[in-house]
Amino acid sequence: MKSNHIYNSVERLAELLKVGARKAVAEHGLQPVQLEVLHYLSLCNRFSDTPMAVTEYLGLTKGTVSQTIKVLEKKELVVKELDIIDKRITHLRLSIAGNKLVKETIPTALFVNACNSLSEQTQEDIAAALQQLLLALLNANGLKTFGVCKSCRYNSQTDKGSYFCELVNQPLADEDIELICREHENNS
Ligand code: SF4
Repeated sequence: MKSNHIYNSVERLAELLKVGARKAVAEHGLQPVQLEVLHYLSLCNRFSDTPMAVTEYLGLTKGTVSQTIKVLEKKELVVKELDIIDKRITHLRLSIAGNKLVKETIPTALFVNACNSLSEQTQEDIAAALQQLLLALLNANGLKTFGVCKSCRYNSQTDKGSYFCELVNQPLADEDIELICREHENNS
């Protein structure tokens, strides 16, 4: 069993990612957790951009998410919008400035420097191994996958080639299927 060895490496990587994130956002007066929320909102679809989904994805408390969103709103990086059908639901959208900040900081310079020092093949091997580890962690513990829409079992294609979500019974745009979703379930 190599679990201790893998755990120690992943834990150290997670710490170093935080170091990179802290450096990247220091000049904006932000904390790593605030960048994590911005990054999540840049990846998720319209069914997953709620404070609850942020809480689930990042494993944070509701209080931490609420405080984090307040800071991001104040800095005009995130905008709150009420759902047009169900006014009890609040969506969190990245502002233009929020989008720009995510694009400029993620992946962080610290991480890019490391990848650039590895060959293309090594980077591909690491990406595949990490994806395998992530899937094992999710499946073995019955955790939500938060996978990309195009790999979801509810994603179907109509005769005309457009996409449709069979769970929420709504059409999906081409760009939707590249985003992650809190309702995602793997095709199996
Ligand atoms: S097809 Fe799956 S991933 Fe896509 S929106 Fe529907 S539930 Fe979410």
